[in-house]
Amino acid sequence: MVLERCGRCGLPIYVRLAAVWNDDGTVTGRFVHNTRVVQAYCDELDFIFEGISERIGLDISRIVVEGERKAGLAFTNALMEKGRGAAGLIARNPLAMRGVFLFVVRASKNAGFGDLRLAQVKRNRFLKIEITDPFNPAVLAGNILGSVEAYSRRPARVSWEGDDRYVVITITDDPDQVRSDERLKPRLPVALPGDYSVERCHRCHMPLELSRRYAFDLDRGIATEVCTNRRIVTVMIDSLNAVFKELTEELGDEVGRMIVDLESGYVRDNTTMPAVLEESRAFEELLSDMRIKGMGNPTEISLAEDELLVRIENPFSEEMLAGRVLGFYKALLGEPAEVKWTPDEEGFMFVKVSRP
Ligand SMILES: [Zn+2]
Repeated sequence: MVLERCGRCGLPIYVRLAAVWNDDGTVTGRFVHNTRVVQAYCDELDFIFEGISERIGLDISRIVVEGERKAGLAFTNALMEKGRGAAGLIARNPLAMRGVFLFVVRASKNAGFGDLRLAQVKRNRFLKIEITDPFNPAVLAGNILGSVEAYSRRPARVSWEGDDRYVVITITDDPDQVRSDERLKPRLPVALPGDYSVERCHRCHMPLELSRRYAFDLDRGIATEVCTNRRIVTVMIDSLNAVFKELTEELGDEVGRMIVDLESGYVRDNTTMPAVLEESRAFEELLSDMRIKGMGNPTEISLAEDELLVRIENPFSEEMLAGRVLGFYKALLGEPAEVKWTPDEEGFMFVKVSRP
């Protein structure tokens, strides 16, 4: 019997093993230094990917796979290089192989990607994973493909079939695949220190809000935000940004604008209005869950004459956050509204929403 949850707050132990909640609006991974993660709604990410596909009239899953592949490759390479490559030496031992992929399966379940099972594995040749209640299959397939390529140190290809209840992902080695040796440069975010202090569990020291806010079904690989009853996933920021970058390179700069539009539409239509009447207090409340979700730290919020200005430290994605703030504005103050933002160059951005 493995103890799976904290005896005091009930939070699954793996959450503590996998990530650290910092006081600057960031959540960082423990397995690989500098990995930042974020929690997003499953249907929010689906909405953005499907929305881009619809707007350009093209299925973008191939591009999503490619972005995720690069991110999975970079993450697994970093993992394998730990201890001056000792981790890779051990992991690539034939006897350890099954354990390595069981770890990948477990970690994906813990991240809320669904109930994954390792169906078949032949070292460096073939991998079959079955998933019940899968999160976006293109994201999963690309990520696992990148991990397999890093592990076996050779190119492979991925395919999947199924529907939104059950998917089988198959990865086969493919020496003929041409891979540019372009490596993803992990963007090391400048982390500005914050002073956001959370109430923590006395036993496991994790924020108490986590166990209040989320319900984790470890067997099914499903995490739910209790107050909205929405499913969430924990994704690496590098992998989300790798997909956005891939989309921009393939489809052009208007992708950034589409992400802002789609995210603001999603937020506008799915926001539960806070009970407070005063508008600037309401914005504070709407923006307050960014920290626990690892999206960044909103340090200044001001509203004057229909102009909303927000300073966000350590933003996880400029487009997603600009869209988010715009969506809250539309939900609370109505339309028309337009958004402008300053690029994150030194660890912070300003988002301004006003009447056009
Ligand atoms: Zn606890």
